[in-house]
Amino acid sequence: MSAMTRRGFVKGAALAPLAFTPLTMEGQSTAPGNRFDIVVAGAGHNSLIAAAYLAKAGYRCLVLEGYSIIGGGVKTEELTLPGFKHDTCSTAHNAIQGNPLLRNDELRLRDYGLEYLKPDPIMHMPFADGSYITQWADLERTAAEFAKFSKKDAEAYRRMYHESEAARDLLGGDMFAPPGFVKPLSERLAADPMGKFWQRRLAMSAWEVIRENFEDDHCRAFLMGTPWSMQPPQYPMTGRSAYSAIRTSPRQIPKGGSGMLTQALARFIEAHNGVILVKKSVVRLIIEGGKCAGVECADGSSYRAEKAVLSTMHIKHLVEMAPRELWPQDFLYGVDTWEGEVSEVVTHYAIKEPPKYPIKGGTISPVESAILASPERLLRFAYDDACGVSNIEEPPISIFCSTVADPTRAPAGMHTLKVLGFHPYNLKEGPQHWDVIKNQVSDAQMNYLRRFAPNLTDDKILARFVMSPLDLERKNPSFWHGSIHGGASDPSQSGAMRPMAGWAQYRMPIPGLYQTGDTTYPGGSVTGAPGRNAAMVMLKDLGTSIEEVTRKGT
Ligand SMILES: Cc1cc2nc3c(=O)[nH]c(=O)nc-3n(C[C@H](O)[C@H](O)[C@H](O)COP(=O)(O)OP(=O)(O)OC[C@H]3O[C@@H](n4cnc5c(N)ncnc54)[C@H](O)[C@@H]3O)c2cc1C
Repeated sequence: MSAMTRRGFVKGAALAPLAFTPLTMEGQSTAPGNRFDIVVAGAGHNSLIAAAYLAKAGYRCLVLEGYSIIGGGVKTEELTLPGFKHDTCSTAHNAIQGNPLLRNDELRLRDYGLEYLKPDPIMHMPFADGSYITQWADLERTAAEFAKFSKKDAEAYRRMYHESEAARDLLGGDMFAPPGFVKPLSERLAADPMGKFWQRRLAMSAWEVIRENFEDDHCRAFLMGTPWSMQPPQYPMTGRSAYSAIRTSPRQIPKGGSGMLTQALARFIEAHNGVILVKKSVVRLIIEGGKCAGVECADGSSYRAEKAVLSTMHIKHLVEMAPRELWPQDFLYGVDTWEGEVSEVVTHYAIKEPPKYPIKGGTISPVESAILASPERLLRFAYDDACGVSNIEEPPISIFCSTVADPTRAPAGMHTLKVLGFHPYNLKEGPQHWDVIKNQVSDAQMNYLRRFAPNLTDDKILARFVMSPLDLERKNPSFWHGSIHGGASDPSQSGAMRPMAGWAQYRMPIPGLYQTGDTTYPGGSVTGAPGRNAAMVMLKDLGTSIEEVTRKGT
């Protein structure tokens, strides 16, 4: 079948050049007689990871993606001009570095084109008074940046770094196993000498932890303004995220673009007898004898699965794809009460030079930077969100210029730039109003950035591409209501409550149907955890284990 040979990939064959090659094959039905063990609905990084382990185990996988390119939130596209490769959504691949997939190199994705770059400086934040904090992989160098404002805060930065490192296994140890497969956090905390300290810290809000430990507003803003996105920092139970910006490990980016991760996974799946089809929007689950036996697509094609169907479609959409009476009441209650989360306005630019922030003795052009006028400005977001207001006064923004570390992403001497700001999906005028105001909000974000990087004048900008919260959902239905992690990560939708109590082990109420992706444990971001965890459960149900599968050579 052409789908299997179209990329002509053979492991070990020449892979160069590893330039980004989108999977753009038009949707087509598999030839009659073709059989698949597993049919996967949606090709995000999580479902591709699950499919890759299943394919390695010898199960024949078919992956169906609704969009024209695989990857979901982990893809790279030429959104502005030819040769400018933009990370449509994610850029930084942090948490996935701790996933055994990469940590133990279980699938040897490097052989399939995946290579990570480690930008240093890690982060830069300029302030309106001309001062700044630059974060480096060297702990002492960063502490010295904090000490410019407060010696006490520099000491707090060091102390919290060591606290966090010491608790790495205690707090992060269960992310890469399905709920119930390892000792629950409550039991681990009870048995650990630092357990009581962490019990309190985890229950606090991130803002409380930062306010208690840091006295200077520059230092506080740095800790709050660098990649914050899961929950407003004043919400209870967000205490752990006060530590997320305290690091010495670079925020890694794949060479060639974020999409190189999903491209490598696709190559792996194809090299293990799998098939990936794009422009295949799944609209219905085929149910036979009470079991899920396959899926039907919007173009009328249908695909049968001999062993199982794995979905990464949003749970709000999943329940619409089978008769309502097949879902138990507690499951439906969990779906009906599912809450969205913070969304973003994202602007991609093709530019002639990177942002140049003035520093002592010159300028700095980091891969990643962020601007937050004050801690209070970020606290304000939850209120604006509740009011349905897109507040463009001194808007908190994150900025990525990946080409600084990876010139392969743009024509020689040119750069890509991504500017992101947090905004509500539900405007008081309704989400459709985003089509009216998105360019105005994008302009405000760029104008604010220019106050700190004045070199970004109009003549340096070749083209731009703006995405509103509504566009995010249009481009990827799994970003339901603009939710960049599938939905809120509040206590009611976290841990063994994701997606809802009783259904956190990736097995869905309809036999033969499994769910992965960011609506499942442990949630969103590029972690690959829901994907590998789902594979663990599926392999167990199929009578083997992930350990057995990964022990086998490739
Ligand atoms: C602007 C933005 C920036 C971000 N930046 C970062 C970052 O720097 N670092 C980070 O860690 N995280 C970041 N994130 C979050 C991260 O991108 C997501 O949490 C992550 O990609 C989710 O992966 P997933 O595999 O669970 O699902 P997704 O990536 O959402 O994949 C789901 C896939 O399923 C497909 N699909 C859905 N429904 C159907 C259907 N009915 N039929 C067929 N296909 C279907 C979709 O098209 C999509 O390809 C960002 C998100 C956004 C929006």
